[in-house]
Amino acid sequence: MPAVTKPLPKSVLISESCLQKRIRELGRQILADYKNQELVLLGVLRGSVIFFADLSRAIFEAQLEEPSREIQIRFEFVQLTSYNNNTQPSAVELIHGGSNYLKQRHILIVEDIIDTGQTLNFLYEHLLTLKPKTVKVCTLLNKPSKRRVPATIDYIGFEVPDAFVVGYGLDYAQQYRNLPYIALLEST
Ligand code: 5GP
Repeated sequence: MPAVTKPLPKSVLISESCLQKRIRELGRQILADYKNQELVLLGVLRGSVIFFADLSRAIFEAQLEEPSREIQIRFEFVQLTSYNNNTQPSAVELIHGGSNYLKQRHILIVEDIIDTGQTLNFLYEHLLTLKPKTVKVCTLLNKPSKRRVPATIDYIGFEVPDAFVVGYGLDYAQQYRNLPYIALLEST
């Protein structure tokens, strides 16, 4: 048997229940801010998919609690790449740019994690060429210690330390996205 070299995500940094509680709070906040409007949730593939799914349903559940607040949600996605199967950043590339529907809309970018800020900066510049009404940013995780370019973030789930995290959509070499919690990657 060859030795196992793949790092193992062992230590839970943010539990499933903490994630869900905070996402419900974000859902209520987003509903309050965008009530009676149409909002395009713009998911950044692939890391944000689990967060995106839970956040969109949290907005719906918030609506059930506050029926006087209506919000129409539309789903759009972009795909960018900034990490190539390892933990070191590389240049940002746009793989899929989203549909023409983004023009003249209220857009909420839904990100998994803001690290150096380069991906967000690149996406923001791209979106401005589409002339949206407004662009705001919601990220599940914020890692401010690694910032290289300034990032304006409107909604933050959790601040995380300067460590590589996986789970709940975030990968290491395309693995661990299906963990229901956020874990620290252990390089053993
Ligand atoms: P940034 O451009 O802000 O440096 O990085 C944004 C992207 O890098 C994220 O969307 C994510 O895909 C990846 N990334 C940054 N930090 C981490 C991390 O700690 N864990 C994982 N799995 N991905 C990360």
